[in-house]
Amino acid sequence: PVARPAYKRILLKISGEALMGPGQFGLHPPTVERIAREVEALYGLGVEIAMVIGGGNIFRGLQGSAQGMERTTADYMGMLATVMNALAMQSAIENLGIHTRVVSAIPMDQVCEPYIRRRAVRHLEKGRVVIFAAGTGNPYFTTDTAATLRASEMSCEALFKGTQVDGVYDSDPKKNPAARRYDRISYDQVLTKNLKVMDAAAIALARDNSLPIVVFSLDEPNGLAGIVQGKGRFTTVE
Ligand code: UDP
Repeated sequence: PVARPAYKRILLKISGEALMGPGQFGLHPPTVERIAREVEALYGLGVEIAMVIGGGNIFRGLQGSAQGMERTTADYMGMLATVMNALAMQSAIENLGIHTRVVSAIPMDQVCEPYIRRRAVRHLEKGRVVIFAAGTGNPYFTTDTAATLRASEMSCEALFKGTQVDGVYDSDPKKNPAARRYDRISYDQVLTKNLKVMDAAAIALARDNSLPIVVFSLDEPNGLAGIVQGKGRFTTVE
């Protein structure tokens, strides 16, 4: 029997920094292409894929405001950064022959579609990858919160959060060799232990909507397709 993925529809969240590759800033096209191939492998399993990409490789609102910029203006700049990342990812995924739509929480009709929930659901049903850009469209939020919100709105069965480490540890595995990885952990434990999975607003929203968060490493080749089938190392927050 062919292994079937446990999921019909998921949301993949990656940070903007995941697109920098070896660089310190911006986009590294070979890295964007590598992640697009991970998406392609998952797509090949028949999973419907929504994506949210952060903007931290280009601009973060908090950094701007720390340097004297007005916070909300800086946050809008951060949201615009996510649109650039979304367009780069769209281009890389479409180069692999998979129809992809960028839908933005801030309308910019010449560049991408505006976010209309029912239209986005339809794209997913038709087998298009949908990349949600511009976060929630509101300052003072993060793309982790946007990912949780869109995953809930799209009725995704889980949010897959790709990071540099293969799950959630009780302490930083890069500093403490005895750090222990959790296979499963509750939302409340993440919040009370202040574990760095996603910000508290995003965790609380996931908890209130019973949306499982699967934390995995983006650095394992073909990792995503395996993890969606329950193979490899990851932590489920549920
Ligand atoms: N942002 C925002 N509202 C949102 C999502 C993002 O204001 O709903 C801004 C915020 O300034 C943030 C920046 O966009 O710093 C980039 O997003 P994020 O820091 O979440 O990106 P990541 O860390 O995932 O690369």
